[in-house]
Amino acid sequence: MAIRKIRIDGDPILRKRSRALESITDRERELFDDMIETMHDADGIGLAAPQVGILKRMIVIDIGEGPMKVANPVLRDYEGEEILYEGCLSIPKFSGAVKRPHALTVDYMDENGEEKTMHATGLLARVFCHETDHLDGILFKDVTLREDQIPEEVREQHERELQGE
Ligand code: ZN
Repeated sequence: MAIRKIRIDGDPILRKRSRALESITDRERELFDDMIETMHDADGIGLAAPQVGILKRMIVIDIGEGPMKVANPVLRDYEGEEILYEGCLSIPKFSGAVKRPHALTVDYMDENGEEKTMHATGLLARVFCHETDHLDGILFKDVTLREDQIPEEVREQHERELQGE
């Protein structure tokens, strides 16, 4: 495994659309492992392949429940809404509030090339949205809410977190 260089906002590759995989080979499995190592090294909870300069529809997620490897994610059946602050390893020192579905269903291919379906809620649903956006060249700063669109309690919670409470 190896840590790969994380591309930073301004790098044109972050704005490109990634290609779907037809199959998973050792090459992709190695990339998955490198992406997980890179994400953990950077203390992130999600990483998309274009963030390490590879335009393949592959994401990794670890919200503290163990690493997940996901190829060709297709999100559907959004339920509810939640507003929370997000950050991104490609946009250092920036955070902003984004409205995301509370729950959703994901169709994807796992690291063995098998088609799978998963239901995700809360933070996991949010990370799926954020990372899948990367595969379409969308950065979360494109979809952040204006100050006056953010509920007061969400803003106050974020202030407290910034102060390290
Ligand atoms: Zn990101």
